[in-house]
Amino acid sequence: MKAPAKSSASSSRVNSIATASRAPRANERSEGLFAQLAEHHHEQVSLYADPAAGYRGIIAIHNTQLGPALGGTRVWNYESDEAALIDALRLARGMTYKAAVAGLNLGGGKSVIIGDNKLKDREPLFRAHGRHVESLGGRYITAEDVGTSTADMEFIRAETSHVTGLMGKSGDPSPVTAFGVYRGIKACAKYRYGSDALAGKTIAMQGVGHVGYYLAELLYNEEARLIVTDIDPARVQRVVQDFKATAVALDAIYSQQADIFAPCALGAIINDETLPQLKVQIVAGAANNVLAEERHGDELEAKGILYAPDYVINGGGLINVNAELHGWSLERAHNKAGEIYDTILRVFDIAREHRIPSYLAADRLAEQRIATVSRVRQNFV
Ligand code: NAD
Repeated sequence: MKAPAKSSASSSRVNSIATASRAPRANERSEGLFAQLAEHHHEQVSLYADPAAGYRGIIAIHNTQLGPALGGTRVWNYESDEAALIDALRLARGMTYKAAVAGLNLGGGKSVIIGDNKLKDREPLFRAHGRHVESLGGRYITAEDVGTSTADMEFIRAETSHVTGLMGKSGDPSPVTAFGVYRGIKACAKYRYGSDALAGKTIAMQGVGHVGYYLAELLYNEEARLIVTDIDPARVQRVVQDFKATAVALDAIYSQQADIFAPCALGAIINDETLPQLKVQIVAGAANNVLAEERHGDELEAKGILYAPDYVINGGGLINVNAELHGWSLERAHNKAGEIYDTILRVFDIAREHRIPSYLAADRLAEQRIATVSRVRQNFV
């Protein structure tokens, strides 16, 4: 990602750039915006500015071979337009992989709005964003993300139907996410211990918020022993009381003598500082972007610690959104999240077969599914 992006403020109209979704040939590589898109095969970037609404937004579409690109809207005070573009491109690509391994008919996209996410008068901003989303004619569907709420989605809804996460619809995704993580943890146990029973296993949980609480309940019901930490003492107290968890200090969670470490709070928590402290055999939790850098995935492998790739095991949130889009029942969403068990096992099989770390095996699985479905759909019928 070398070349600076053009300023989105330079135009008040939608400015779309579409590229083919195949890998570029070497002689097609060029400096500039198209080079940024080509680097990871993004299809399209759309920039739209509405100065009266204080709106400057970027929608990045990575891949639509499986279906319309879905991904949330992030509002953030980026230090530059280029930083915003790079974030949109990176997040959109992540969504392609997440949807593909979850077995959903969705592509990957993401949008960012450059600005203060604590803004009070939100209607003009999000209606402008809704118009931007609408201009793409359904190629991109948006939802909540960092700095946005269900109320913001209602403003977007006034301008476009290509939005999910609305009030009174699928609601809090955490129970479905937690169920998927629980199934993923069981798959890890099956792979590592030969049995997926969690009774008697000790699980160290970092973060017992929305997902963490539901996950703790599922694990407790299976007679697992819980060690927990959270920056919010009330949340810790709740799981100590409800699920007989043992509370430990924030930094003590990494060095616990436990079987499984379940990160359910922050990203980048597998890093140079925490890795040497781990005494577990499995790392599997809800948090996004668990590995500070890819090499930390290699280091987990080298230490003999089984790692459930984050975007595979936490796919229940996206499954919940997909359920809203297609009017699924909660039961159907739960069933789909339950399939994460088999997906995790397939990831480990690919890793073993190709002698690659699990985080790379997950990417392989996603790419295989996109290629397979694209082949099936190549003919006119
Ligand atoms: P949440 O905010 O409800 O819970 C996070 C918890 O972590 C909070 O209780 C917070 O106090 C605690 N926390 C924050 N910093 C901490 C620290 N340094 N040490 C210990 N605890 C800390 O969020 P959530 O919805 O439960 O999501 C948890 C994680 O799972 C996030 O990384 C999120 O991106 C990811 N995730 C969530 C969903 C979902 O459906 N909610 C879906 C996919 C991924």
